[in-house]
Amino acid sequence: MNKALWFLFLVTQFIYSCSHDRVKNKNYLTKYIVVLVVDGPRYSETWGDFSHKYIPFMDSVLAPEGIVFTSYYNLGQTWTTNGHTALTTGYYQAINNGGQELPVHSSLFQHWLNESGNDQKEAWIIASKDKLQVLANCKDTRWKNKSMPSTDCGISGLGSGYRHDSITFKKVIEVMNAYHPKLLLVNFREPDFSGHQNNWGNYLVGIKNSDAYCYEIWKKIQSDPVYKDKTSLFISNDHGRHLNNVQNGFVSHGDDCEGCRHINLYCYGPDFKTNTINSSTHSLIDVHATILELLHINGATSSGQVMRDIFK
Ligand SMILES: [Zn+2]
Ligand SMILES: [Zn+2]
Repeated sequence: MNKALWFLFLVTQFIYSCSHDRVKNKNYLTKYIVVLVVDGPRYSETWGDFSHKYIPFMDSVLAPEGIVFTSYYNLGQTWTTNGHTALTTGYYQAINNGGQELPVHSSLFQHWLNESGNDQKEAWIIASKDKLQVLANCKDTRWKNKSMPSTDCGISGLGSGYRHDSITFKKVIEVMNAYHPKLLLVNFREPDFSGHQNNWGNYLVGIKNSDAYCYEIWKKIQSDPVYKDKTSLFISNDHGRHLNNVQNGFVSHGDDCEGCRHINLYCYGPDFKTNTINSSTHSLIDVHATILELLHINGATSSGQVMRDIFK
């Protein structure tokens, strides 16, 4: 082989190995995404409490199977619709928290439905808080009213009021059985709801009940042959609550105190490490970027960073 041919051979080998690596890196086992948002617990009553006594299932069952984050934050406005919007659009936005404004940016649901060509029943938003129905749509005229996911929010949709988390949990299992959505976002209103009522006891019960619902959904993923070994689960919060020495303490939230910003993230899935505590700093928008990566949603942008350190 002469020198020119040999050089050409080396170059093609190099190009092949690069493209081969890239394909290999992106070939994830994840085909389904479930995001559970537990509304408004403080880190100090969840993973930040070393006894983990209010999150027994996360402590004893889920944590060994996945990744728990200790430096995960809401870096935008620490309200419910704002936190959820960061997760679904990848951008922090000063959005109205009462369901009276749509997100500025298109959601990952819209991009995924558009790119995959899948039916609306393959993507769902199921929420105890009716106002979160705004997450299905956006103001961007290129995307408004297009490729919207299915929704089941509040008593009967936007403006109808909040419902109990037990109803939301039941609906989640029904929808998983009926449609096996590939993209599912769930909101539980507790412990935020009881916190605002200044009821410390019910606030703690709300954390425990949400822990149990998350565990049941994790079990559902394990026991359903469609979901098993093909599903990545993210359990997050939208915001925390004030520290005890800030305003009215656990009763409310909405500023930039450590209590409002420091929240939980748990990741579980076939492409992720197990039994890992991750102390690198991440925030809500990074979950969005990571989901885009896992599902190969190429048409969407995100201000977040893919959490590369969670992959096996
Ligand atoms: Zn609240
Ligand atoms: Zn605060």
